Amino acid sequence: MDGADPASGPFGAAVNAELDRREDFPAEACAALDSLGLPAHYVDARYGGRLRDMPELVGLQRAVARRDLTVAVAHGKTFLGAAPVWLAGRPDQAARLAGAVRGGAVVSWALTERDHGGDLLAGGLTARPVSGGWRLDGEKWLINNAGRSRYVCLLARTREGGGPRGFSVFLVDKDRLAPGAYRVLPKVRTHGIRGADISGIAFDGAVVGDDSLVGAEGTGLDTVLRTLQLTRVLCTALSLGALDHALDIAVPYARGRNLYGRDLATLPRVRRVLGEAAAALDVAGTVVDVAARAIHTLTPELALVSAVTKALVPNLVQDALDRITELLGVRGFLSEGFLDGSFAKLERDHRIVAVFDGSTAVTRNLAVDHFPSLARAWRAGRADRAALPATLAGP
Ligand SMILES: Cc1cc2nc3c(=O)[nH]c(=O)nc-3n(C[C@H](O)[C@H](O)[C@H](O)COP(=O)(O)OP(=O)(O)OC[C@H]3O[C@@H](n4cnc5c(N)ncnc54)[C@H](O)[C@@H]3O)c2cc1C
Repeated sequence: MDGADPASGPFGAAVNAELDRREDFPAEACAALDSLGLPAHYVDARYGGRLRDMPELVGLQRAVARRDLTVAVAHGKTFLGAAPVWLAGRPDQAARLAGAVRGGAVVSWALTERDHGGDLLAGGLTARPVSGGWRLDGEKWLINNAGRSRYVCLLARTREGGGPRGFSVFLVDKDRLAPGAYRVLPKVRTHGIRGADISGIAFDGAVVGDDSLVGAEGTGLDTVLRTLQLTRVLCTALSLGALDHALDIAVPYARGRNLYGRDLATLPRVRRVLGEAAAALDVAGTVVDVAARAIHTLTPELALVSAVTKALVPNLVQDALDRITELLGVRGFLSEGFLDGSFAKLERDHRIVAVFDGSTAVTRNLAVDHFPSLARAWRAGRADRAALPATLAGP
């Protein structure tokens, strides 16, 4: 998949613009990615998948995002839903899920609730023990693919008082729930990624087996935090793909538009905007590469590395997109005509990337929380120097 835009086919700008206008799910593009075998890359190689290293998955996510962010968000979500099982699930549970994902099953990742946003310890969806399993009651809201998924990996309160050991992760197979035990909430209309299936799911006495628990009871928060360390890095591949796409549009535009008897690309101001955007892409790409390698080489530092990456990259890219919007003039604003409005769409689609999986404020705060231990380690000269060459330079 390179940056060229095919005129037709499920990744064509016109097709995606029309789906976006109708707020329809990009089902054909997702099916095409299924038939290309992308789901196998979401599956840990220990369970028969093709996921061996995160830098490769980041590259794949970036390639899809370069075509269309809605498709990348919609399809890639299955990795986010499955990752907790690769990290904390039982081998038999992971093997079953692996088979399903390779076969195209969609997995949602349901953390947040209407009244609690990023405050996960306030979560009100409960899982109470019943004979042979757990009874789920409550709602998760603003969940990607809540309607289309077969599996929902969710965080539930398993101790009345909550607290760090009061939550557990469950992998819920919707096909195994009793009729009426759950309902999918209506699709929520959004500013960007308009075709994505963003809704919610409500459980009403839904009984799941003990085998749905992911990891031990009470370890949910730990599983979520470890999963977020992966997904925060992966998320930033969406930003890289968005800026790739924006430059795919802006550079030919600047070269091809003739004003005052000269190409726009010869104006110093225009060259500067494009040059700075390309530099931002290089910086962002390098940060993401290092972070993706750090998943394997500097795992104990990942809480900080992933937070810094997530805090930095979407904003760096959004700034570049803002300046390219200005450069494109009215074309940055059109929903049709100029490349079927694909720039305006990608600019809208990208705005959510800074918010999900930990907003900029949340991830900056996380980084600040690390300052005291970083300062202590610096003074003591403590650093995992042996891991640095592989992290910085790659294999
Ligand atoms: C399109 C879309 C798709 C989504 N998909 C999913 C999904 O699949 N699964 C899922 O679980 N959720 C999903 N969400 C929900 C989303 O990830 C959460 O709602 C979000 O992470 C929390 O955002 P909030 O605006 O509710 O923030 P709140 O937590 O209510 O925060 C409000 C404000 O306070 C700031 N803030 C919060 N905590 C801190 C802090 N510690 N320090 C400084 N500032 C802080 C926030 O940055 C924000 O500006 C989705 C949301 C959207 C819009």
